[in-house]
Amino acid sequence: MNESDLLIVGAGSAGLTLALLLANSGLKISVLEQGPAPTTGPVTLKRVSALNLASERLLTRLGVWQQLTAKPAYQAMSVWEADSFAKISFDAQTSQLPSLGSLVDNEELRQALYQQLQGCPAVRLDFNARIQSISAGAAQNLVSTEQGVYLSRLLVGADGANSLVRRELKMPQRFWDYDHHAIVALVKTSEPHQATARQVFLPTGPLALLPMADPHLVSIVWSTSPEQASTLCEVDANLFNQQLTAACQSVLGPLDVVSPRSSYPLRMRYSTRWVEQNAVLVADAAHTIHPLAGQGMNLGLMDVAALAELILANVSGGKLTVETRWLRQYERWRKAEAQQMIVLMEAFKRGFMAQNPVAKLVRAVGMRAVDRLPLLKEQLLAAAVGERDDLPQQARPAVISYS
Ligand SMILES: Cc1cc2nc3c(=O)[nH]c(=O)nc-3n(C[C@H](O)[C@H](O)[C@H](O)COP(=O)(O)OP(=O)(O)OC[C@H]3O[C@@H](n4cnc5c(N)ncnc54)[C@H](O)[C@@H]3O)c2cc1C
Repeated sequence: MNESDLLIVGAGSAGLTLALLLANSGLKISVLEQGPAPTTGPVTLKRVSALNLASERLLTRLGVWQQLTAKPAYQAMSVWEADSFAKISFDAQTSQLPSLGSLVDNEELRQALYQQLQGCPAVRLDFNARIQSISAGAAQNLVSTEQGVYLSRLLVGADGANSLVRRELKMPQRFWDYDHHAIVALVKTSEPHQATARQVFLPTGPLALLPMADPHLVSIVWSTSPEQASTLCEVDANLFNQQLTAACQSVLGPLDVVSPRSSYPLRMRYSTRWVEQNAVLVADAAHTIHPLAGQGMNLGLMDVAALAELILANVSGGKLTVETRWLRQYERWRKAEAQQMIVLMEAFKRGFMAQNPVAKLVRAVGMRAVDRLPLLKEQLLAAAVGERDDLPQQARPAVISYS
């Protein structure tokens, strides 16, 4: 029998970050993960995520950012529509920002979080766990695994898109398919990418070219119909290269895929309830969105920063007081941003899928107009880099004191 104040199910980026945020709180924390422990090894860039400035600040304060070897920052962003004059671009220098974001390797981030947790005696990490049942109660939560029983004051579901915690606790979920699969691969470019993140909207969906540390290497996220995605994953490399180069209008010259291609079905999921008794959901367990704006992991990291802040406010003398009042406060706080992102992703997707000539003209004129309106552009950029008024403390910019 394992007893803890906080039991986190899932050791992905969200679960491990939450454990680290609370490692020195005086609370006893357990993390249950179905997979094996992260192992150190060479960075593969198999899956990368664009992290915004708010996430960077959070991970820097945890001492994790400094451990990442691969985190190329991008200084500019260029978004355009194929076959029209719609285009908008942003750059960090004009907006007086250090960068517009950075690209991190998902597995290296998990390894760095895990490494940091090794030195935290209050955190117990159990890998290869097989959960059999979960029940939430006002006094205690109980999770049974093949290895034993876990009791906790607070239970956090950080177990990703198909969250068992959400399903076992019958927290309702709304979802719809985006009718897109995303192909992810590493691609060599003929022209240097110049630290610019690029995205072209095709009639079938968006294609992103994300700049890696090597000036001639990009990670692509190509969202398209499930049928086209499966064909693109099967065709030989030469044909894939031709189609990819044509799709992004040779913006970086002829392209050459240098990794296996993998494909991910994309689905919007939104849990309408994030709190059940003394259990809460965070990150992908609560919401998943289209990767076209690269915001999913950023949202999850802000969820756990917000939750950690409220937990810390309710710890006194090493004792955690769990109350519906502040659990609901967490839910309201974070639902606001998740809902905005879901609506925005849908608007982008639908907006760019409409192919009639009027829709295309409106889009092109609209994008050009926004590109010339500095104030509106600044607002769009602030949203992209994660600057919001309601950021958790640990993700806010440092306050400079001149005294
Ligand atoms: C193609 C694509 C591109 C993306 N690009 C970006 C991007 O550029 N920027 C960005 O911010 N986001 C991006 N995202 C989103 C991002 O990858 C996710 O939001 C993020 O990885 C979710 O982290 P998480 O910790 O919530 O879940 P996960 O990473 O899924 O972790 C959940 C963990 O829980 C464990 N688990 C599951 N079930 C159980 C169980 N029953 N018992 C114990 N453990 C369990 C899993 O093994 C896993 O380790 C992208 C997503 C996709 C699909």
